[in-house]
Amino acid sequence: MKRKHLISIEELETHEIKETLETAKSFLEISKRPIKKVPTLRGKTVVNLFFEPSTRTMSSFEIAAKRLSADVMNFSSASSSVRKGETLKDTVLNLEAMNTDLLVIRHSASGAAKFLTTFCKSSVVNAGDGTHEHPTQALLDALTVLERKGRLNGMKVVIVGDILHSRVARSDTFLFTKMGSKVVLSGPSSLLPSYFSSLPVKVEYNLDKAVEGADVIIMLRLQLERMVGGFFPTLREYRERYRLTPWRLRATKPDAIVMHPGPINRGIELSSDVADSGRSVILEQVEKGVAVRMAVLSLLLGGAR
Ligand code: ASP
Repeated sequence: MKRKHLISIEELETHEIKETLETAKSFLEISKRPIKKVPTLRGKTVVNLFFEPSTRTMSSFEIAAKRLSADVMNFSSASSSVRKGETLKDTVLNLEAMNTDLLVIRHSASGAAKFLTTFCKSSVVNAGDGTHEHPTQALLDALTVLERKGRLNGMKVVIVGDILHSRVARSDTFLFTKMGSKVVLSGPSSLLPSYFSSLPVKVEYNLDKAVEGADVIIMLRLQLERMVGGFFPTLREYRERYRLTPWRLRATKPDAIVMHPGPINRGIELSSDVADSGRSVILEQVEKGVAVRMAVLSLLLGGAR
């Protein structure tokens, strides 16, 4: 991969996705060793800039960078001078003045990661920008499917729920369609934006029909923090129509897997008996996330395997 930054899946060529997934596969084994460290990025400095809460993504980037022997600094806006009014650009320029090599950014504004590339010398990785994209989530989702199913081509992938506010839905849709999967989107019409009609996806408002014959179901969280106004009559009605239950799973392929980017709202989009069942690969996604982020960091920083 010849890129300096990773901002979106939309901009990636299919061969770049394949190369990243191949590299990630080769990194999977490092996390199983007694000594989980390789010297690939020794002497490089990675900064995690998180302006929105995160459990999985920030710790995953931190662990990935450490397993590659990079030095890592975690910046959280809550305990910084952002609270005193410092702008995003000034904050980043000051951190970069410490000679960083790569910045990982999560921000509530769509386009924040791209904005950094207009003035930063360091590589930039988008760890989720508003409702735009979350490219490493899509890559880890793809690696999880690839490891379980052996291929992405021809898989029926159903993405369910709050598509409108989900950067994961956008990145996943771009990735899975580019890799030849059949993508079906399901959710209330108020949470299904019309721009998806320009992509090679199918929209099915009825979840029971959407999951018929599915290989992969990706459930999404209702992003209440991004909702202004009512997008559905009541939470109870949403649950009735869009919660994944063991009953609904009966219509899928017998070996279908259930995924979720986390954090899950138990009982809302996913019943606990599905979340904790053998069909759920939610923790496998988290495991694959470390390998994918190791691959992205090493490819962008030119580290050899
Ligand atoms: N963790 C994912 C994200 O940051 C999904 C979510 O928050 O629901 O986009």
